Amino acid sequence: MPYKHFLGYARGDDKDHTPMVVEEEAVIVREIYAKFLQGKTAGIIASELTKRGVPTPAGTGQKWSASTIMSILQQEKYSGCAKLQKTLTVDFLSKTRKKNEGEAPSYWVENSHPAIVSVEVWSMVQAEIVRRKSLNTRHSSIHPFSGKIFCAQCGGHFGSKRWHSTSQYSRKIWQCNNKYRKGTRCKTTHLEDKDIQRLFVRVFNRFYTDHTALAEDYETIIAALTDTEKLEKQAAELGGETLELLALMQKMINENASTAQDQKQYNKKYNGLLARYEAAQAKLDGVNNERMLRSAKKEKMRRFFADLDECHAAITEFDENLWYAMIESVMVSELTAVFTFKSGATVEIDIFKDED
Ligand SMILES: [Zn+2]
Repeated sequence: MPYKHFLGYARGDDKDHTPMVVEEEAVIVREIYAKFLQGKTAGIIASELTKRGVPTPAGTGQKWSASTIMSILQQEKYSGCAKLQKTLTVDFLSKTRKKNEGEAPSYWVENSHPAIVSVEVWSMVQAEIVRRKSLNTRHSSIHPFSGKIFCAQCGGHFGSKRWHSTSQYSRKIWQCNNKYRKGTRCKTTHLEDKDIQRLFVRVFNRFYTDHTALAEDYETIIAALTDTEKLEKQAAELGGETLELLALMQKMINENASTAQDQKQYNKKYNGLLARYEAAQAKLDGVNNERMLRSAKKEKMRRFFADLDECHAAITEFDENLWYAMIESVMVSELTAVFTFKSGATVEIDIFKDED
């Protein structure tokens, strides 16, 4: 029975056990992560896998769903990491033991399980999930331009519309979603698919021509992102502090349960500890978040330059994979567009000029 291990896993009802994922399953998991990072949605990935007849966690002959894909994308254990402290006595007031739902300190324990995807890839996917949520629009289209093109005037997204949809001259155009909204009336230009493709070819070639100069920047950026010693130290200190505070609080509770004492004083002291604990925990979350962002950014840069290295010449026509690999966003104004590459580099281009 394939996938029986990540069946429970994906559903999250067997979180405390090390999965015994077999290699064929690992290949599918990696494919799901890679496709998501290419820009595909969970729904598209699901239908591709179903079409190919790939067995789902529930077995052969079942349909993949977007929610199964999303849960696989969010399983931290696929990265080889696990959060400790699944259960802790945290509900001090009722003094009952309960499952840790995020209120107790948690630590990343790297390499605690065999990794299926690297920590960096896992982190990139989490950052991408957050990014897509923040788009405030359904990232449901498979179109490579969806969610990537913005209006410089109002900051809104460019959406696609079909012009003259009933005639044989029907064509697809991209325009600011607020173009005809009262009070906005954006003057940004609309673009056809072929315009965006043509602009990308020009922008990419311009970028490609001077990218050797960027290689040095790349080394510097990677080195800076890799240097996480300070963050590791902070995380360890804060982790220790939260544990100490938890132990103190536990001790207080036990004492209060066995000896008579002034409850007003007790509560005051207890609440003081609780506040310190919460402050340390919030700091720890911030530090861990920063660590995750850095490793995601590092992997993004590494992949970006690896993809760029694979391209051995300037391009003559639009290449969808290259678009996915290179472009973070495009900001369109009335006459110009600014392309932001995934390395952070930007190239501004005149929309209505044919040559540079
Ligand atoms: Zn606009």
